[in-house]
Parts: sequence; C-alpha cells; structure tokens
Amino acid sequence: MKKSHLLTLFLLLCTIYTQAQNKKPKHIILIGVDGLGAYSIPGSKLRAINKQLSSDTSTNFVDEKYHTKAKVPTLEKLMKDGAYSLTTRSVLPSSSAVNWASMTMGAGPEIHGYTEWGSKKPELPSRTLDRYGMFPSIFSLLKDQKPDAEIGVVYEWDGIGYLFPKKAVSLDANCEGDSATALTASNYIINKKPNLLFIHLHDVDHIGHSIGHGTPEYYKSVSQTDAYIGQIVQAVQKAGIADETLIIVSADHGGINKGHGGKTMQEMNIPWIAYGKSIKKKGEITESMMTYDTAATIAWLLNLKTPQAWIGRPVKQIFE
Ligand SMILES: [Zn+2]
Repeated sequence: MKKSHLLTLFLLLCTIYTQAQNKKPKHIILIGVDGLGAYSIPGSKLRAINKQLSSDTSTNFVDEKYHTKAKVPTLEKLMKDGAYSLTTRSVLPSSSAVNWASMTMGAGPEIHGYTEWGSKKPELPSRTLDRYGMFPSIFSLLKDQKPDAEIGVVYEWDGIGYLFPKKAVSLDANCEGDSATALTASNYIINKKPNLLFIHLHDVDHIGHSIGHGTPEYYKSVSQTDAYIGQIVQAVQKAGIADETLIIVSADHGGINKGHGGKTMQEMNIPWIAYGKSIKKKGEITESMMTYDTAATIAWLLNLKTPQAWIGRPVKQIFE
C-alpha cells in the first residue's frame, strides 16, 4: 500500500474513533435510592415474575390492596425517554452496604468482601486492592485513569462513607436529610459539572423500616423522592450539560413488611433506569441484570479499563 493510502486509512480510523468517543457521555450522575423496591414503580411485573419463579408465593408480596404503586412522574419520564429494567437483582443478602459496594465496585460480596448491612470494612479479604488499599471501585478507576476528572459523592447515610476511597473524590458530602442531599448535589452539578457523581437518598428506606414497605406512606415517600430526582435532573439542565450527561437511577434493595436482607423478589428486585446521552435502544431492558453491572456500565461509558476481578457486564445493548 502506498504511504498516502496508509495515511488516509489512519485518518479515517482516527475519525471513526473520535466519533465513537463523542457518542459517549462526559458526565454520569448515579442516583441511588435506598430501599426503592422495583415493585413500587408503575410498570413493574413483580407479581407475574414471582408467580413464574416461585411455587410458594404466599409471603412474597405486599398486600394487594396496597399495591397501587407510587406516583413518579420524573421516573416515568426517564423510563419513557430512556431505558430501564425493573428486574435487576440485588446481591444477597439484600442489605445496604453489601449492595452499595457491589453497585460501585463491579463485583459481588464474595469478591469485594463487604458482606453485611453496615459493613465498614470487608469481612472477607478483598480479592484485589487499588492504590488506596480498597477493592477497586468506579471512583478509584476514574481517578487513576483520568486524574483530572471531577468526582463527587453526596450521601445521606453515613455508611456510604466507608465504601469509597476519600482520596479519589473531589467532593465527599455526608448530608442530613434527603432535602439537603438533593440540594447539595444540585449545587455541585451546577457549579462543578462533575464527570461522575454518586448521590444517595435515604427517606424511602427509612419509611420502609418505620411504617412498612408497600404502605401508602411508603409510596408517598417514593413520590417525594421522585421530586428530589426531578430537582437533580433540572440541575443538569441548568448546568448546561444535559446533552452530555447520562443519569442512572437504581437502588440497593427493596423490602418487605418492615425490613429487607432476605431472599424474596420484593427485596431483591431493584429498578435500573438510564436516561440521557448515548441511549439508543429505549424502553424495557429484558436481559438479566445485576447491581454490579452498574459499575461495569459506567466504566465502559467512561472508557475505563476494568480490573480482572470485576464480574459486572456493561449494558452495551442500550447505547449507541
Ligand atoms: Zn439500604
């Protein structure tokens, strides 16, 4: 081949590569709603799924009379204009820290080692460590591979503060109450336009424990949380980055009666909603998904190399 032909080919490949990169989001906002069972979202087929999978369904459901589901105009918009799964599964146990770790660390408890509701450090040795001495997370991957990235974690539950390396993030904000959490996150988005922001909201889980899952109060709390998510979506628009941002909404677990941690689908089925830049295939994701696929998907979108120990798989099929 002539030198000039080689040069043309090289330039063509460069253009294709650049175009592929441009299709990916520059900003990813991951909103984690503690205790948001997929069953509470309109469109959930939990009952049918439970019937299909379990011979004894008697204890697996909330009372039918409460099964009205929440009013969630923001989430419904994100689902309609984005892609979603209401059958994504938590890892077991269906408890908090173990699942927040799995969501952000791309692996399950057997590998990252955080196994309990309130794990502050791994109860099992993490299979591998990042340079901060923790199991590699989406935060450490991004910081290591793109040191200039703006990374934030804004959270209501202080337990989140033990699950990411503080030195890898630019903002570490533990807020009192969801209202302050949503406000802090919104201001941060407007002022700093983060490349990666993880927001943890807590009210839904609190009501689930104090009053009960699937109760009118629980659905009311889900609706209030929907309004906070709306506030965050507006902040993305106000920041002028809506065209370059992907928003993911998910949860650590659902719940049943006044708790979670067990193995009913009501506790294990969590929502996974992606909205914004790069979504190609809108609507319901029917493939199997696990919570640790969230970290893998974010890493893939941000062009990050992932550790061999990760088992999460990016949900490539919904993106351009
Ligand atoms: Zn939780």
